[in-house]
Amino acid sequence: MRKLKHGDSCDSSCCLKIQNLAVTIGSDRILRDVNLHIHCGQMVALIGPNGAGKSTLIKAILGQREYDGLITFSAPGMRHRKMPRIGYVPQSPSFDPGDPVTVADLFGCCQSKRPAFLGLSRDMREKCMECLERVHGEDLIDKRVGTLSGGELQRVLLALALEPLPNILILDEPLSGVDVEGQTGLMDMLDEIRKRFDLSILMTTHDFGMLHQYADKVVLIDRAVLKKGTPEEVLKSDEFRRIFHRRGGNV
Ligand code: ADP
Ligand code: MG
Repeated sequence: MRKLKHGDSCDSSCCLKIQNLAVTIGSDRILRDVNLHIHCGQMVALIGPNGAGKSTLIKAILGQREYDGLITFSAPGMRHRKMPRIGYVPQSPSFDPGDPVTVADLFGCCQSKRPAFLGLSRDMREKCMECLERVHGEDLIDKRVGTLSGGELQRVLLALALEPLPNILILDEPLSGVDVEGQTGLMDMLDEIRKRFDLSILMTTHDFGMLHQYADKVVLIDRAVLKKGTPEEVLKSDEFRRIFHRRGGNV
């Protein structure tokens, strides 16, 4: 496990603490007994089969889904229980290729109240450029959003999620719809962002091959937390094998 900037003691450095979380939708108990700590500067990967409750857990953290239990946040110099600023990259939003909306238009809509048809002010365009620079995407500014490749779209959404800079960055399956080369590029970028801004990252993924290299902690869920630990511990566990019917270590 990588050494964390704030140390690894939960008392002084824990960023996000989820305690006894349960989510019920109608009569269906989607999640139960979820206990999880995400430390400052950590990359945590949330894995599990389809329908395991990964997106539901993210929505609970975002405050978009009612839950029982406690979600609290603390960081050095910050008052206990104040909620963090969260940057969120949703799962594969789709845009119409024929839609004339450009990346600059999208930024304008998200970052200012000025009507999109008036175009971006010079200041806003500069700010948009600065945000895109964080994800090495300056060349995307005038591209139509609907024509971006999967990897390019993820970078644009990531740039939006990083403004203003969050304490925690949450991404729901950022690697799906991105080719293998793009996946490595995106993970390298997330790693760079994590270090540069010292923020925590929580992401869901089905791409287990990259966990060893990039994740500090892996959490396997299927309606409840089945296993959490280092990539090695989780990918080689009986729980992982049982859920995915595959041998650990080779993923
Ligand atoms: P995952 O992201 O791990 O694939 P989800 O969190 O999307 O899983 O879904 C977990 C379970 O919750 C699924 O059985 C899904 O059908 C159910 N679920 C999610 N959202 C709703 C909803 N709004 N209404 C009813 N059931 C839902
Ligand atoms: Mg999901």
